[in-house]
Amino acid sequence: MPRLNVTHDPSLRSWVESANAAGADFPLQNLPFAAFRRAGGGEAFRGGVAIGDQVLDLGALQELAPFAGQAAAALAACTAPSLNALMGAGAAAASALRAALSQALRAGAAQAAALRALLVPQAAAEYRVAADIGDYTDFYASIHHATAVGRLMRPDNPLLPNYKWLPVAYHGRASSVRVSGQGVVRPRGQLMPPGASRPELLPTRRLDYELELGVFVGAGNALGSPVPLAEAERHIFGLCLLNDWSARDVQAWEYQPLGPFLAKNFATTVSPWVVTLEALAPYRVPWTRPAGEPEPVAYLDDPGVRAAGALDIHLEAALESASMRAAGVPAARLSHSNFRDSWWTVAQMLAHHTVNGCNLQPGDLLGSGTQSGPRPEEAGSLLELTAGGKQPLTLPGGETRTFLEDGDRLTLRAWCEREGCARIGFGAAAGTVLPAGSAG
Ligand code: CA
Repeated sequence: MPRLNVTHDPSLRSWVESANAAGADFPLQNLPFAAFRRAGGGEAFRGGVAIGDQVLDLGALQELAPFAGQAAAALAACTAPSLNALMGAGAAAASALRAALSQALRAGAAQAAALRALLVPQAAAEYRVAADIGDYTDFYASIHHATAVGRLMRPDNPLLPNYKWLPVAYHGRASSVRVSGQGVVRPRGQLMPPGASRPELLPTRRLDYELELGVFVGAGNALGSPVPLAEAERHIFGLCLLNDWSARDVQAWEYQPLGPFLAKNFATTVSPWVVTLEALAPYRVPWTRPAGEPEPVAYLDDPGVRAAGALDIHLEAALESASMRAAGVPAARLSHSNFRDSWWTVAQMLAHHTVNGCNLQPGDLLGSGTQSGPRPEEAGSLLELTAGGKQPLTLPGGETRTFLEDGDRLTLRAWCEREGCARIGFGAAAGTVLPAGSAG
């Protein structure tokens, strides 16, 4: 479990001035990684680290050979167009690189003059998904989301008997994971409206978002070798934002008996920046179960998880309609929740995923499931916020929404903030809904 070290010191300042601004997502204590390039020039993607409103080009930094030992080896992995090699190098290598970057970007660092030439403004950068994702699994780890959605489908029996005992998940689609900023074409699907006798192929009428965190796997495990819970975090590189776009009407008709399929696999949007688990160390909180709830089976229980396995991460979803955009009206917050309310931790999800011997590989992606909080206004999807489409929301300007309309831009954000700690932001994961049949 990552402990606090000098890189977390809230008094640290960077020679990149924008990193020292109050409320900045990317201060010196964060140092998230992405795969990036200058926009529009057809350059190769390579690794970058965020500092203030800049990206430090790690591909170019490698040519200066500024570091030694494990940090140098980890930096060499950042010249590739995706971060799989860095992720696969393991937590100790990523930690050594973080420590070296923290020193080099610190106010007064001797390397400042040389490194200044390697900064690219984030406004002039473009990104790809941080890793080549071999496999993607989406969990369902918020009991508040599972209960609210279950109640819509089964009012008398919202939670199925397994829910409190194991991290429920399904295998998702890696090929349609896209980075923030790309459009999402409204999917067509087979719909069976209530009372109809035959399904029809139509554009979804119930397009929704899901407010989730993504987890990029670091070092993998061999097939047949489960990862014990106490070691699970050593296999996690970091966290990003994840929007699991969902077609609720397609889902309602297709999900039984095998679960989500075409209602989910047409698009998933992730943030470009991956915040390492080490950067989140100041925001660890105890993982607990409310009194009267079942204690986990032994392989999902660990003193380290109980002491500090949960993460205090604020999550937010905001919507901007096409007419709001045209009128210059800022996006409206739809909901706000916190990952500390999750029924399962990221380590428990990873340990459970491998308990049967299933092998995870560097760059695999896990979704946390929609993170809804205990209060109705903390719901992480429109399905919940509108009571299954029965109670429309009103946007600034008077438009109403039950589900997403063409032109709507949905933005997820996350951040950690507490007195005495540096703010750790995740940036954003945004996507705009495009009409059915458009090129995307
Ligand atoms: Ca989901």
